[in-house]
Order: sequence, then C-alpha cells, then structure tokens
Amino acid sequence: MKVAFFSSEVFPFAKTGGLADVSGALPQALKKAGMEVKVFMPQYKDIKPAIQYDGYGLDKLGNNVEVVFIRNDAYYHRDYLYNTPEGDYADNLERFSFFCRQSLEILRNMDFCPDIFHLNDWQTSILPLYLRFSNNSYFSQSRTLLTIHNLAYQGYFPLNKFSRLLLPPEAKDTLSIYNQLNFLKSGIITATAVNTVSPSYAEEIKTQEYGCGLEKILQENAHKLFGIINAIDYQVWDPQHDKFIYFPYASDDEETKRKNKEALREEFGLEKNERMLIGMVARLTEQKGIDILSDALEKILKEHQVIILGTGEEKYHKILKSLYSHNQQNFSLHLKFDESLAHKIYAASDLFLIPSRFEPCGLSQMISFKYATIPLVHATGGLKDTVKNYDFKNGKGDGFVFEEYSSSALLEAIERACQLYKNKEEWHSLRRRVSQYNFSWSESARKYIELYKKIIAGI
Ligand code: ADP
Repeated sequence: MKVAFFSSEVFPFAKTGGLADVSGALPQALKKAGMEVKVFMPQYKDIKPAIQYDGYGLDKLGNNVEVVFIRNDAYYHRDYLYNTPEGDYADNLERFSFFCRQSLEILRNMDFCPDIFHLNDWQTSILPLYLRFSNNSYFSQSRTLLTIHNLAYQGYFPLNKFSRLLLPPEAKDTLSIYNQLNFLKSGIITATAVNTVSPSYAEEIKTQEYGCGLEKILQENAHKLFGIINAIDYQVWDPQHDKFIYFPYASDDEETKRKNKEALREEFGLEKNERMLIGMVARLTEQKGIDILSDALEKILKEHQVIILGTGEEKYHKILKSLYSHNQQNFSLHLKFDESLAHKIYAASDLFLIPSRFEPCGLSQMISFKYATIPLVHATGGLKDTVKNYDFKNGKGDGFVFEEYSSSALLEAIERACQLYKNKEEWHSLRRRVSQYNFSWSESARKYIELYKKIIAGI
C-alpha cells in the first residue's frame, strides 16, 4: 500500500509540539509494517535537505523513509513555523494551500500515486478539496484520512481570501462556516475518514464543551470518525540511551535517576533538600492548564520544587515570571523551546505535571512513564485513556489524576502524590512498574493500517 503522509512539522526537521513527534515516528513504523511511505512537509528556514531540486528537496527520516520538502523561500524562510509572538502570519492561507497544491504536482511528477493521503491537522486538511476539484484523473483512486491532533487550531481566514485558493466557486460552501473560511471544517467533510489521537477525544469533540464550534459537523460525520491513541518513539525517548541527560539510566535504576535530579538542581541553582521535584514541559497556551497552575503555584512552592520549560502566550510568560521573582530557591523557569532541557526534566523529575484543560492525546505522560517519572494529569482526552489514578488501597494505577478542572483539585492531587512520595518503597515500586509500560508505535501503526484498509474498502 502506498501512503503519502502530510504534516506541517516533522521531528527532527521542525517541531513546535506533539505533531512533530508523531510525524517523525509514525511514518517509520508504517514503513516497518510494510507500507510504501513518502512524507511531505514545507522546507523551513533551517532545513538543508541532502538533495535539492528547484522546487523541492529530498532527505530521509530514519534510514529509509523519504521526506519531500516543498520549497518556497518567500513562504517558509521565516523565524517561526506559523506565528510570531505577535500573532499568526497574515499569509498562512497562501502558505499552506500552496504546500498542498505543490505536493500534488510533485507526486504526479514522481509518478507516486498514493492509495492513502494521510493528512494531519488544518495545514493539510484542504488537500481533499483540491483532489475533488482536480480536472486530472491521476489521483481518482486515492483516498484520504485526516488526523486531528488538536481541534482548537482550525485554520480560519476571511471569506474574501477564497480566490487565492484557486478553487472553483462551488468549493466555497464546503469551506465556509461562521462567515469564515475554515480549512479543518472542509477537511472533516471531504476526507474519506477522520480520526483523532485518542478514543476519548474522538467522543469529546462531538460535544459543545470540546467541539470548538465544529461539534455539529463532527456529529454529522460520526460514521467516519475514529480514535487511535498516539505512541512515542523509544529511539528518541529512552533514558538508557539518551544523549541529552546528565546520567543515562535503566528505568529501574533509582540511584542514577536521583543523580540526574541532583545535577539538574546544581545546574539551575535549586536548593538541595528532601522536596519532591515537579517538572513541566509544555506549550504555554490556555489548553495546557497554566491558569489553574499559576493560581496554585505559590502554595505548591511552599512544600515542593518546580521546574517549568515552555513557551507560548505572553500573558502566561508574565504570570510565571512574576511568580518566579519571589520564589527562586525552589522554582526554575525556562521560557523557551529547548529539546535538550526537556529530556533533562523528564529524567530528573519525581512528578510530571499535565494539568491540561483539554488534551487530544498528550505525549508527556508516556515519556514520563519511560523515565520512571510519575505523571499527574487532569482527567481529559488522551490523559484519561492512558493514566489511571493511583489507589492507595491496592497499589493499582499509573499516576495521579484530578477530575474537576480547578486549582484546588490540582493541589489535592499533588498532596496525594506527595503522600506516596514519602513512602519510598511504594513510590519506587510504582516507578518501576510504570517504566515497564510499552507505548511504542508498532501497535498504533497497526491500527492505522487497519483503518487505511477500511477506508479503501469503503469503510
Ligand atoms: P502538544 O502537541 O499539544 O504540544 P504533546 O504532549 O502532544 O502536546 O507534545 C508535546 C511535545 O513537545 C513533547 O515532546 C514535549 O516534550 C515537547 N515540548 C513542548 N514544549 C517544549 C519546549 N518548550 N521545549 C522542548 N520541548 C517541548
């Protein structure tokens, strides 16, 4: 089966969040399972492909998956992928519709006609419309799967930009909702099938609370809506072979894990004490629960140590900076994107915080498990599917979960975690157990292939 995998970010070439992790790992797992795969992404500023042609570059993901970089320096040679700190790039409609059209052109030139176009998020979700209105029959047998990694990002633009899409007027209705053009809406309607990155999120997005205005469209398309949980790439995330961390360690080696905590404290001037070290690595947006965390942080810092790595909205930078200014011995704050520091935090932390308001899947909890770090999560989306609350009575569960989205519920969960932390034996036994979990891509890739087959068979 031939698969063309489209993504606006692919690790290690470009990354702002989990989409890049998925797009770097899933195509390799598909290839391993026997698929013929090509990955398409824009050629951003720092990308230097091994082979460069006029309008595109070629390189490899891992050893054997071909990546095609669509080149257009006016569109892609910029400091950021989608937006500056001041806001979205004004020509995102042009940038990503060009990406889709140009990729189709190059596929035809390469004579690679995919059975499945696997599209990811709004940046690529307009592609099925181009297929529908193409007057070339080359892709007439191809089918499309749209994976929604985050419904909060829909790619909407003013209606008067429609002509820039180079689509016939009949396409406008499919693209429009609430008096705007909406790439994701058109993708949901026109893709052969749609999936989200966890079963719970696939259910949640059909409700008003999580549907971000598209709940009706999703309800109408429920017959072709699926949920497949993400996984992580253990080539990238394995404390035993991690070049970024201070002291690589086997998941059950508590002594060396503790040395990572000490080294991190040393590097960032955190006090050496008996406190629990709580880590967090996230995009600082409304989604990630920074509001309830900042209300609770002062209290948390009375008893614990916290290290936060993240970048995002200026208002959250400000709030965190101000909390940092009077809590320096037990709080370390890093407002930037830093792959190496992220690894160090996963390795050094005792507890890893994911208080997201909503979470399509979440990768941090899976990464934490592997690093023998206990996740503390809000019960939502993929977090709910992957972390069960620890039960003191029978020792079952994988971490700490709070149900109500509030600072007090978060604080209460941290207290429970600390109660277990003080019981060294049980804490270590939980650590050892979760570090053995296997969230590798082979199982999720198998589910994607099943879905591809269903799509080809007509669902
Ligand atoms: P999302 O895709 O919503 O950002 P995920 O949990 O799916 O959330 O994936 C987040 C990924 O991005 C993880 O690999 C996490 O470690 C990484 N990440 C987030 N923020 C940063 C940062 N500031 N520096 C380094 N890595 C980050």
